[in-house]
Amino acid sequence: MAYRSPVADILFSLKYVAGLDEAIETGLFGDLDAETVASVIVEAGRFATEVIAPLNRVGDRVGATYQNGAVATPPGFRDAYRRWAAAGWAGVTASPAYGGMGLPHSVNFACTEIWNGASMGFALCPLLSEGAIGALNAYGSEALRAIYLRRLVSGEWTGAMALTEPQAGSDLAAVKTRAERAGDGTYRVFGQKIFITYGEHDMADNIVHLVLARLPDAPEGTRGLSLFLAPKFLVNPDGSLGPRNDVRCAGVEHKLGVHASPTCVMIYGDAGGAFAWLVGEENRGLAAMFVMMNSARLGVGVQGAAIGERALQQALSYARERRQGRSSRGGAGMSPIVEHPDVQRMLLTMKALVQAARGICHLTAVAIDRSARAPSVQERAAAGERVALLTPIAKAFSTDVGDRVASLGLQVHGGMGYIEETGAAQHLRDARIAAIYEGANGVQAIDLVRRKLPLSGGAAAAREIAGMRAIVAELAKRGEAGFGASAERLGEAVDALERATAYMRDALGPDGDSALAGASAYLKLSGLALGGACLAKAGLAAQDLAAQGDETQRGRIGLARFFAEKLATAAPGLARSILSGAGALEPYEAILTETA
Ligand SMILES: Cc1cc2nc3c(=O)[nH]c(=O)nc-3n(C[C@H](O)[C@H](O)[C@H](O)COP(=O)(O)OP(=O)(O)OC[C@H]3O[C@@H](n4cnc5c(N)ncnc54)[C@H](O)[C@@H]3O)c2cc1C
Repeated sequence: MAYRSPVADILFSLKYVAGLDEAIETGLFGDLDAETVASVIVEAGRFATEVIAPLNRVGDRVGATYQNGAVATPPGFRDAYRRWAAAGWAGVTASPAYGGMGLPHSVNFACTEIWNGASMGFALCPLLSEGAIGALNAYGSEALRAIYLRRLVSGEWTGAMALTEPQAGSDLAAVKTRAERAGDGTYRVFGQKIFITYGEHDMADNIVHLVLARLPDAPEGTRGLSLFLAPKFLVNPDGSLGPRNDVRCAGVEHKLGVHASPTCVMIYGDAGGAFAWLVGEENRGLAAMFVMMNSARLGVGVQGAAIGERALQQALSYARERRQGRSSRGGAGMSPIVEHPDVQRMLLTMKALVQAARGICHLTAVAIDRSARAPSVQERAAAGERVALLTPIAKAFSTDVGDRVASLGLQVHGGMGYIEETGAAQHLRDARIAAIYEGANGVQAIDLVRRKLPLSGGAAAAREIAGMRAIVAELAKRGEAGFGASAERLGEAVDALERATAYMRDALGPDGDSALAGASAYLKLSGLALGGACLAKAGLAAQDLAAQGDETQRGRIGLARFFAEKLATAAPGLARSILSGAGALEPYEAILTETA
């Protein structure tokens, strides 16, 4: 079965889980209406299914190739990218003043899922451009915006994010790339960056590198980082392309997955200095970079849902065809494997996790829109805190979901899953990176516990828990048999989250090891409770629709029940593990040291 973009599920989640339609109705987006939003997402789905998805296999098999400083993307990518840009997809959220559509971020993240489900290797390019657009929009000078923003928004040029160096990955304080003032308001950048996604390629005419570097008199650590814009080609005053800048690609990595996406070693300034322009203020580069990284983090979270959905579609189709063993349903001959309870468990787990991850990403995306557009300062501030709190969960929970779901998808295929021709293995290989880049998931968990839980003295986390409790109460009130024990099990998951949150608050001392030892478990617990609440909300909406005569969504009630009874039940165990602190880790030297 060919992959198709999950447009109907995305629209349902945006409307009923994340409340996008309600936000539209209350005028959050001016005169935008829900029909326009739906038509944009439907069109993105059509484009992705017809134009991008067929390139997924060739992207994996051929991959991006490097020769003499140039990178060729796989056959068909350049043409597809040009069609994608010509259709305006690079500018979904960008301001109409720069040629964008000015649509909500939530609509763009819906599109992000659609591009990534079709081909993650392709979609990484737009993801990086999106971050560059955000950073320039927020921090670029008028002059920089006039030259670069319009071309990024039109997709004629693409963006690259250049942070990582061999000694500076999770810890950007170690960045060594240097910048010098040229004396005329411009700068020269010198250094090497590694792992730069789409740092070099042949799909667009110019590449706008946003590079973190350090000025000679900069303070140590992250407070001494500045952000610079260094284009591949310099730009003439009339906007036409000038000579090559001193920016070159020294090679691309050979890696586990996303083969189509070139992961570049970039050299800046080894022939005299790369011409560069400051974005934001000197030594305040990290603030500007965070605009790019926050958007990219949610985008990467969305990749988890996207790749999970693709793996699910393929596994389901296989499970309906493949016959082995006799199920309890009987019948002549062997049964389709979908009839075996253990295969049903795998498929339902896949579907439940994907929809939970999607729901969490959509909640975060709508909160981003509210933080920018809500009428009152208080509402914007509360939404901003919600974004801050949910972003690490959206990133890490969803990318772990992508990984787990892709692995389950392979398992559903049995031995055929392990064979490359089947395609299931590609999803697993592609999904794996998302838990590592844009802040490894362990680092996201630390961010959640250290910086996000204390927001407003814990009020942001308390609001989130109160929201989950309201959903549990509604489940209990409805008493619909199809929900089974959802209210009880989800209620227990929220209790567990509340216990763990209280523990984390107290355990965050000066070293905080007893909190940090449980940070990843805490993030997972948060994802389970919030994901379960998202599915319950979808199930409640499905019940309402059924009461109005629309029975088509009833499966969502069963999915909410499956999540609550089979997945959210891990929550009390996670809480217990968190509350046990760091004691079990302390003898790690002795445990890890091999005995003769
Ligand atoms: C395919 C690919 C594409 C990429 N694209 C880009 C890009 O476009 N631009 C860019 O700048 N970078 C990019 N990266 C780099 C990526 O963001 C880094 O690999 C990532 O941030 C992790 O850094 P690291 O690899 O140095 O791992 P490390 O920082 O060495 O981390 C190793 C492990 O230690 C853990 N760890 C590290 N510090 C701590 C801590 N303080 N507490 C607890 N645990 C910790 C991490 O969670 C991880 O599990 C890309 C990487 C890859 C592989």
